[in-house]
Amino acid sequence: MRTLVSGATAVVLMSMPLSACVEDVPSADETDPGAFTTSASFCPTGFSYDGTNLLCTSATEAVAPFPRSMVDDCKRFVANRANGTNACETTVAGAVSTRWARSLAIGARSRTVQPSGCSAGTTRSTSGYCGDAANLYGPFTKNDVTFCKAHGGGSACETNRIAPTLVAPRTTTSEWSYILPLDYGVREDDVGGGAFGAARGNSAGTHSGVDFLAPVGTSLFSPCASDDVQVGFDSGYGNWVQIVCPAPASLSGGRTAWASLLYGHLSSVAVSDGGSISRGGRIGAVGKTGNAADPAINAHVHFEITIQDTQQGAHDDLHGSADNTGTVAATNFESSLRAACLTPNGVTALTGPVRRGRRPDPYLVLICSVTGKPALTSPPASLQGTLDRWSANFSASGFDVDVGR
Ligand SMILES: [Zn+2]
Repeated sequence: MRTLVSGATAVVLMSMPLSACVEDVPSADETDPGAFTTSASFCPTGFSYDGTNLLCTSATEAVAPFPRSMVDDCKRFVANRANGTNACETTVAGAVSTRWARSLAIGARSRTVQPSGCSAGTTRSTSGYCGDAANLYGPFTKNDVTFCKAHGGGSACETNRIAPTLVAPRTTTSEWSYILPLDYGVREDDVGGGAFGAARGNSAGTHSGVDFLAPVGTSLFSPCASDDVQVGFDSGYGNWVQIVCPAPASLSGGRTAWASLLYGHLSSVAVSDGGSISRGGRIGAVGKTGNAADPAINAHVHFEITIQDTQQGAHDDLHGSADNTGTVAATNFESSLRAACLTPNGVTALTGPVRRGRRPDPYLVLICSVTGKPALTSPPASLQGTLDRWSANFSASGFDVDVGR
């Protein structure tokens, strides 16, 4: 559930109801195939994984069954044909051999998909798959199909639909609960632009994070439980907090990936160096420390993400803006980000790349890793005139980037 609560209280952006939060801290040596990955995905003989449409397809068919919203969409297109309606409904019964015409499945998927990457009526489960209380929808990973069969699921495990109880519990990664101020847009003042990849006067030449405008004192929270908190002060970043999180399952590219999150220019810090923090725990407040102290620069949090292959790598990442080192995990992360969210919603970054080296655009990660975000509020007058609306930096066909849903 993507929730953006704004106004007098802090902006809260989270991926699922708090009641569903499981604050387990995974160990680095666990491996998890995750969802939505070409190499790890299972498709029946004669079908292959289509990472753009998130389906198992052949030249003419796609593997069913599908969620109710896709079935209803199917019926609108074939209702005028003889027994067409029945054909759409038949797939709901879930016969192992059930198939849809490829073009019909792709069309229904594209017309029903939500910003979360899930078709309408389904949400991202803690396993990483889209589904409801009764069913999860694939394609599933090979490991999950194997697990399903080992637990009595039989040949039905090779369809596009598996009961939640027959999918292996996922312990290494969970979706993030993002808790950041997005209501105020991105910084654009006389001193510089705050978009990801914006031109800068320093040696790196480009901005390595996103400057989320927010009033001084706005609380910032952690998207994951972490025992790997680092705190410091830097002439550029000011008061900073660095938190290491396992990458969200849906965006980890079929492998274990770790993210180093950096919050800069904080006015106060609520965590201790070397300490731990819970999922949703308060890490501090937006400020103007470091090189943001200039009166011409409006208050913002500089938020930056790097994707590393290991937990230690994420811990050791110094976030230096001149360092554009890439990682295998970051490449996989971008592929999953595109397949699970950007492509289905037609999301395009207008003013910067989706990824630079090991850094993904933080705004894209935020809007793609959470669901159900309500409308943003209007920026207060004090921040007017120095912000870019999100549509100055991003466009999308699947949802309104300014409204956020
Ligand atoms: Zn910045």
